[in-house]
Amino acid sequence: MLDIEYPIKGACQCGGVTYELLAAPLMVAACHCRECQKLSTSAFSITAMVDADKVQFHGPMRDWSRVADSGKVSAAKFCPSCGNRIYHFDPSDPEKLKLKPSNLTDTRIINPTMHIWLSEKQDWIQIPEGVKTFDGQP
Ligand SMILES: [Zn+2]
Ligand SMILES: [Zn+2]
Repeated sequence: MLDIEYPIKGACQCGGVTYELLAAPLMVAACHCRECQKLSTSAFSITAMVDADKVQFHGPMRDWSRVADSGKVSAAKFCPSCGNRIYHFDPSDPEKLKLKPSNLTDTRIINPTMHIWLSEKQDWIQIPEGVKTFDGQP
């Protein structure tokens, strides 16, 4: 991700929510857990960990939350019009956001260096060489 230039603009599918990512994420991870399979309507979801002050959001968002296996609350923000998930966060640690980076314009960012919850991974997925892996939550 060396030649990616910031800020990068992002938008939900309908454009009702837009944002700017001002700096490189702290890390990008793929999660293969069942919840992320449902969330992404795919086999895994991709999350960029970012400092909350490094992203600026515009437009109305709605909230949803659930209690994760760890016992922590996983809170979600999404577009009320198209339903596109924008980010997740832990309300007890609001300085860090788990951005859903697939709606950024520079999609080179959606290249995970860490894969987690391999215990729930789909059998056909081949994990690339050279990435960090965890069977569950790191
Ligand atoms: Zn939308
Ligand atoms: Zn997950």
